[in-house]
This record gives sequence, structure tokens and C-alpha cells, in this order.
Amino acid sequence: MPARKKYSPPSPFMAGLKSRCPRCGRGRLFSGYLTIAPRCRVCKLNFGFADSGDGPAVFIVLIAGFFIVVAVLIVEVRYQPPYWVHAALWLPLTGILSLGAAQAGQGDAGGAPIPAQCPRGPVGQALGQEFET
Ligand SMILES: [Zn+2]
Repeated sequence: MPARKKYSPPSPFMAGLKSRCPRCGRGRLFSGYLTIAPRCRVCKLNFGFADSGDGPAVFIVLIAGFFIVVAVLIVEVRYQPPYWVHAALWLPLTGILSLGAAQAGQGDAGGAPIPAQCPRGPVGQALGQEFET
């Protein structure tokens, strides 16, 4: 049996935000915009445990929507701009914020668990034995 290469674990939060592999921190976590890759191209870790579905992305979009609605209400109450200004401001901002935050949220929720905190779970079993201590 060949010896397994050991990796220093990256920060789980930063690995998720950067959409990188939770084991090596270098390989990309996604093969599409929100599609988890089957495995890491660098360390060959199987990402089957990291696919959390659309839940995190939906959660992030709902949070972004909350902040957009609050911002719309504040601007409306303070400045009372015409409706075209609202459309010009909030439609692009909603798209940018939702799409940008969705991938970061998906990566953090699905791809960046902390193996030291869950050594007996499926993620810890997939990752924990191959980290340097
Ligand atoms: Zn990797």
C-alpha cells in the first residue's frame, strides 16, 4: 500500500470562502458554479461527503434578501426616490449579492468542516486520519 501524503489543514472558514479543498486547501471545490466537484484535482479527496445540496445557497440568498429589503426601506423612507432608481439600484445589487454569497455559503457549509471537531463523523473519517497532528 502506498504511503499517503499528509496535508496541513487549511482554515476551514477560509477554505470555504475561497471554495478550496478542505484537506489540501489548493484544489477547487466546485466544478460548476454551485456544483461540487467529484474529487480534488490536487489531493484526490472524494468530495462525496461535502455535497450539502442547495440548502446553504438558499439560506444565504434569504439572508441577502433580508439585507436588501432593509436597505430598500431605509432608502425609501429617507430619500423617497422614484421607482426607476429603486429598480436601478436593487435589482443588480440583489443579483450580485445573491450569486456572490451563494457560492461562498455553499463552500463553507459543505466543503469546509473542521475534522478535529467531528473525528467520528463521516467527514472526520474522510479527512481526519490524513492530517498532520
Ligand atoms: Zn485537495
